Amino acid sequence: MKQEVTSTDVLILGGGGAGLRAAIEARRLGAEVLLLSKAPAGGASCTSHGAGYLTYCAAGARDELRRQVLAIGGYVNDRAMLEAFVEDVPTRIPELAAYGVALAREDVLPGLGYWRTAGAEGQRAGYGLTAPLRKAVDDSGAAVLDGASATRLLVAGGAVVGAVAYQPSTDSLLAIAASATVLATGGGAALWARSDNPRGTTGDGFALALDAGAALANMEFVSFQCPDVPAILDGTADRGEALERGAAHYFLGGVATDGHGRTAVPGLLAAGEVACGPFGAARLGGAAFAEIIVFGARAGGRAAERAAASRRPSVPPGVIGAEAERLGRLRGNSGGPSAAELRRRLAEVMWSHAGLVKDAPSLGRAAHAVEALGQEVAAVSAENPDDLLLAEQTRLSCLTAREVVRASLWREESRGAFWRLDHPRPDNSRWLLSRRVRLEEGEPAATLTPASVPADVGPSEPPIGAGCFAYLTSA
Ligand SMILES: Cc1cc2nc3c(=O)[nH]c(=O)nc-3n(C[C@H](O)[C@H](O)[C@H](O)COP(=O)(O)OP(=O)(O)OC[C@H]3O[C@@H](n4cnc5c(N)ncnc54)[C@H](O)[C@@H]3O)c2cc1C
Repeated sequence: MKQEVTSTDVLILGGGGAGLRAAIEARRLGAEVLLLSKAPAGGASCTSHGAGYLTYCAAGARDELRRQVLAIGGYVNDRAMLEAFVEDVPTRIPELAAYGVALAREDVLPGLGYWRTAGAEGQRAGYGLTAPLRKAVDDSGAAVLDGASATRLLVAGGAVVGAVAYQPSTDSLLAIAASATVLATGGGAALWARSDNPRGTTGDGFALALDAGAALANMEFVSFQCPDVPAILDGTADRGEALERGAAHYFLGGVATDGHGRTAVPGLLAAGEVACGPFGAARLGGAAFAEIIVFGARAGGRAAERAAASRRPSVPPGVIGAEAERLGRLRGNSGGPSAAELRRRLAEVMWSHAGLVKDAPSLGRAAHAVEALGQEVAAVSAENPDDLLLAEQTRLSCLTAREVVRASLWREESRGAFWRLDHPRPDNSRWLLSRRVRLEEGEPAATLTPASVPADVGPSEPPIGAGCFAYLTSA
């Protein structure tokens, strides 16, 4: 396996909307930028596959947007993220025109509605965002490495100082030292056997961040598409039939950041679906695209500022050799399970036991199965570079799945997009809480933060529903 070492001011992991927007902002502030992406930047991602709706909010409608996002999110929204979102949406979305993105507006309520991407004729609507943003990144002078997948973040002296990435097309391992690293690896809904996400959306970034010392928040809040949620929770719809129709869609929770994209680990920022967004337990349709633009720009800007104010680090000695040895062992294994088989089993477990229909017994089964799969991953036999990449992805997926299952077992209620058959109603008396987890000596340790129902928001019973919500007309 070839090994290379390089360095940059700002390293961006992920080439969907969040990563592309972050790269543009960091370059605008004068930073040297390297963006690397598992799938080609601007190519297959949730952004390019998206339906092309973004939140429209007039400057005078910020209070109403805040009220809507809180009411839909069941009040467990990250409030710092929400304030940043409400502040920036009115200006950041129209500003996309400067990067060649064509948008048309649809009003729904006074001052609120949607922008829709245009200019992606013959393609999925999301390309109306990613194609011009990729061009703007290339024009900005940022370096882009397509087809490289981060396998580990580099940590030195309590800070993230870059990442290691594997590139299967050249069978090479690259260690990149960076003053600031922006995680923009997207969500993880392709962890479930049924999903509307591209196959590469395997939740890598949640695991990378946790392993580097960052916290994950609200990991139980994953949304599913499903036609019959109320009937399933009332026990009047068939569980088996529901499992044949729904699909995993979107991670509402994720890496905890401070509203500027900064995690608690110096040098590590996160933006887009990998970050715990402003949405709480459910989100407004169109708000995910708005989120990646708002927080991509914020994180890219803060990353450039950090780079300007600090000395560029170097790759800690021995790291790339150790990583090459670890991956080399997987290549040398023989007789172990294939990564494709483990990934298939993980996806089935998540769908059957921790998907849109779940209760304590099924989640308990999922917890055992995911733990066992996590052990088996170490014995995978990877015959070629593509197998090796899949093995790494599956290792990271198991860590992410473990946190989703643990958080889902903890929350004994249904709220927003999160449904438990054994606890089918929201319960504000016990569960107005957000849960954060980080690793302490390798073991997950959770902390809880109380939330409250703001007096002007109501209704106090949060809505429950599938997919994304339309604007509430009676909120
Ligand atoms: C079918 C569908 C339709 C949707 N429609 C809408 C809509 O109309 N409006 C809306 O608001 N939201 C919509 N969403 C949600 C929205 O698309 C996503 O939340 C958003 O695009 C996420 O953007 P992102 O940049 O965070 O991640 P992504 O766009 O998923 O990009 C992640 C990037 O990270 C890369 N990556 C992953 N792992 C690694 C790794 N280990 N190393 C390096 N790179 C890595 C990937 O290759 C990819 O380039 C839709 C989602 C789906 C699935």
